[in-house]
Amino acid sequence: MMNFEEVSLAKSTIHTDLLLNNITAFKELLTGQTKFMAVIKANAYSHGAVPLARKMEEAAAANYFGVAQLSEALELRAAGIQTPILVFNSMRMENIAEAIQQNITMTVFSTEVAEKIVATAEKLDLIAKVHLKIDSGMARLGVTTFEEAWKVYEALTSPHVFIEGIYTHFADAYEQTTDSFTHEQFSRYQEILAQFETKGIAFELRHTCNTAATINFPEYHLDMVRVGLGLYGLNPTVGEARAIDLTPIETVQATVTHIKDFPAGESVGYNRTFFSEKPLRIATVAMGYADGLAKSLSNKGAFTYQGQQLPILGAVCMDQVMLDSSAVEAELAVGDLVTYFGNPAHQDLSVQEVADFADESEYDLLCRIGNRVERVYK
Ligand SMILES: *Cc1c(COP(=O)(O)O)cnc(C)c1O
Repeated sequence: MMNFEEVSLAKSTIHTDLLLNNITAFKELLTGQTKFMAVIKANAYSHGAVPLARKMEEAAAANYFGVAQLSEALELRAAGIQTPILVFNSMRMENIAEAIQQNITMTVFSTEVAEKIVATAEKLDLIAKVHLKIDSGMARLGVTTFEEAWKVYEALTSPHVFIEGIYTHFADAYEQTTDSFTHEQFSRYQEILAQFETKGIAFELRHTCNTAATINFPEYHLDMVRVGLGLYGLNPTVGEARAIDLTPIETVQATVTHIKDFPAGESVGYNRTFFSEKPLRIATVAMGYADGLAKSLSNKGAFTYQGQQLPILGAVCMDQVMLDSSAVEAELAVGDLVTYFGNPAHQDLSVQEVADFADESEYDLLCRIGNRVERVYK
């Protein structure tokens, strides 16, 4: 009987040694005092959170893992991951006991949640670990003033709660400019820290920087940085960024399932959005928008084969896509793999180039790679 590996039609090869190299590149930007959080929410931007967390834990490459939701933290704990994990979202009341029992660090910005954490930790006779969240301009989660922060802090005060950290998140750190909103956000955050300080309160882990800010704003690294996209080898900064040597860790490929000679004057695909002007060789490939291939690449994007670009013809289908393979007519055969994105050093298109074709963000393209795409870890 064939196993799944032999029958899956699209595969993602993930190079975990490159992941560790990327972390090393970030650590070269940090002073010795600054800890490293690897952000592996959304199944590690769809690369697979558990295998990557295992690799990083074995190599002692990350001091902390960051995820968006409790379910993601529980998946890591169930897989035996012991590194501290911070959940960026607030806890639901009914999940607080489990988070405490699994030693998962909780983000807190409301007094109701704070009170429930204290009561639950006391009842369990365990220590709950928490980070306060300040909203300094993202308008997403967190308290915006010291007065609010202080109320939450007071509500958390208990021998059963360790208030380990305080953090905020930047909205616009992609470019390093003197008038960047990042400076404004940081000063709002610092203002709140200063008021805690006048009360004699200091925090062990103050953190603000995502990937872009870690690269662009070294003065804001503080006690820890939270790097997501950069782990996977992508640099989201624009303009005059500081040099950092990152390599994309993932190559996504799909199988050619059919090849045909195609006449001039015929249409390709749904809604007949492409007509051939001359005879073509068309390759049909088993990857579609259900696998994460951006539909916006219809008539715009390309796959590559041996460094040659094979343009996408017509609309991307749910499970398949048609390519103009005339350029590699002699070489390409049914069963071969063509590349959606990968490592430009191997003449693949980068995620950034594909994102430009698609007019979408590289975050979005990475996260979309679907479950039917088999993950192979090297
Ligand atoms: C997603 C996220 C990050 C990581 O962002 P990148 O741009 O991928 O580095 C950091 N902090 C928080 C709170 C996040 O939600």
